[in-house]
Amino acid sequence: MQRYVHRRLAECVVLHYANSAMSGRCSFCEVGGTQSATKTNHHRLFSKTIEGSEDIPDYGDIYWTNMYELLECAGCESVTLRHTYYFQDTDETTIRTYPPRIARRRPRWMNKLPKPMREMLRQAYVALDSNCPALTTMGARAVLDMLLVEQVGDVGGFGKKLKALEESGVVGQKNRLILETALDAGSAAAHRGHQAAADDVNAVMDILENLLQAVYQLDSLADRLRRTTPPREESV
Ligand SMILES: [Zn+2]
Repeated sequence: MQRYVHRRLAECVVLHYANSAMSGRCSFCEVGGTQSATKTNHHRLFSKTIEGSEDIPDYGDIYWTNMYELLECAGCESVTLRHTYYFQDTDETTIRTYPPRIARRRPRWMNKLPKPMREMLRQAYVALDSNCPALTTMGARAVLDMLLVEQVGDVGGFGKKLKALEESGVVGQKNRLILETALDAGSAAAHRGHQAAADDVNAVMDILENLLQAVYQLDSLADRLRRTTPPREESV
């Protein structure tokens, strides 16, 4: 009887979490065009609940519940799998979504980047989606290093490369100082296990995206404009 009550209780908790989260972020909806994923309603297409328990000697019974749901976004009809896990002993609930929710929308100009840089940036976004701040800042630092070597050559440490970038006119002094801060965040993650806060990680990604866009998208736009703009007629 006691086991039955525990199981029903665990099932109720999982259902409560699941039902209260039927409106959530959709990684695929373009509505609003914001940096983060858009919030939409979801329909439950299928669900399966699996309960478990174990009798631990000198401790007693422990209970857990796994609930798997196929959810369809009411906006774009994309389907994701949501896994809700409840462990009754600690009264903790963990919710995971597959594929993981996109924490930051990828810029449209990503395909303009050189392939190795694009791949490294892609991995930084995956780390961000997976809530791995240290790996995200390390990835961002690696992308910046690639950009620096491509723009100014391997002229020494990060500080020298950044100074050379400023002298080449790609960034101003203010942006160079901001970049140094971003690189420090990646370095602290790599060497001291620093876990940056979500706001700091997003600031690093803002700086990185602005610089990449300026170098690889705006430069090509300016080139195209120059090629397609008719030259001014010479006055006689
Ligand atoms: Zn959607």
